[in-house]
Amino acid sequence: MSSDAPLMDTYARAPVTFVGGRGCTLFDDAGNEYLDCLGGLAVVAAGHANDRVTAAIAEQAAKLVHTSNIYWTRPMQDLAARLVELTGWGRVFFSNSGAEANECAIKLARKWAGAGRYKVVCAEGGFHGRTLATLAATGQPAKWAGFEPLPAGFVHAPFNDLDAFAAAVDDETAAILVEPVQGENGVVPADPDFLAGLRELASAAGVLLMFDEVQTGVGRTGRFWAHQLYGVTPDVVTVAKALANGLPIGATIASESAAVFAPGDHATTFGGGPVPCAAALATLEVLVDGGHVAGVERKSALLAQCLSSLPQVRQVRGKGLLLAAVLDTPRAVEITASALANGLVVNAVAPDAVRFAPPLVIGDEQIADAAQLFALAIDEVLA
Ligand SMILES: *Cc1c(COP(=O)(O)O)cnc(C)c1O
Repeated sequence: MSSDAPLMDTYARAPVTFVGGRGCTLFDDAGNEYLDCLGGLAVVAAGHANDRVTAAIAEQAAKLVHTSNIYWTRPMQDLAARLVELTGWGRVFFSNSGAEANECAIKLARKWAGAGRYKVVCAEGGFHGRTLATLAATGQPAKWAGFEPLPAGFVHAPFNDLDAFAAAVDDETAAILVEPVQGENGVVPADPDFLAGLRELASAAGVLLMFDEVQTGVGRTGRFWAHQLYGVTPDVVTVAKALANGLPIGATIASESAAVFAPGDHATTFGGGPVPCAAALATLEVLVDGGHVAGVERKSALLAQCLSSLPQVRQVRGKGLLLAAVLDTPRAVEITASALANGLVVNAVAPDAVRFAPPLVIGDEQIADAAQLFALAIDEVLA
């Protein structure tokens, strides 16, 4: 149901109020069940109401919720160690969202590069957040309208066009920032040569290579990081969405030589708080130690196969369990609404593309059910 709650009018919300969830199932306030193939925008990777994560949140909430970053707390230390172990390198700064993780990366690049070098080269179509600086980094001019002038120093080049990126890097460049798979731009994966070329370009030019893995991190593509899937190591990587299975958290991980912040350079009141960090540790236990990340490749192939077999699906693109069904009709928004009415949660990421980013714990039968419900939604709209 829609609502007249006194909220700012920032979202074109779907007419549903969810009140509960379990695994890949959501329940609304009218008692209807939904198969969740979106996971709260690639967030709830361990599934709704995951027992292990719930217990970690409850235990930590009963013990200690907040002390501020002027003191040490255990979950933050443990989570940093776990992330560095999974990454293979780095030092971590914790924040509360994807945009904040990218803000941190941008500030870090400016400090690392030194006076006069402040530009960040980003991709057209890329998405990095809605704060002023990350909006400037976002390569979608439609989202800038009404908020200009944006912070200076962001340059955009076409995604997957290495020559254009090379031409955009100059003496004032501090970093290159791209997503390995553009999530909000319709689920568009980078070409392997493009990312490998950016690595060479960044090293040769003496600028930082920064990957925004806010959406692709935490096993979404079948490796812990999408860059591990590509075999290209950045200097800085950011993550948020799935890290704490729905609690707000962001992390910026920088190589030892790029981690140049000194006390006073950057800070946050809530970032690295005990509860989200405990939730993240449990999420990693479920996803990594529980074998779900290792299972992504097989489930991805199954979902891609089920979706490709539908007559109106022209192409399935993406990596792992971040896939878009590209339709031969520009009616993805209507099809998504029809899917919701039929009990399938997905979202339109382009006029002709529907995103599937289910919890990584999704079962084979649920994958088949999702494709069937999607077929039904397409038929209803195109009938
Ligand atoms: C969602 C997203 C962000 C922004 O994250 P918030 O938590 O909404 O600030 C940034 N980059 C990418 C790639 C994203 O998918």
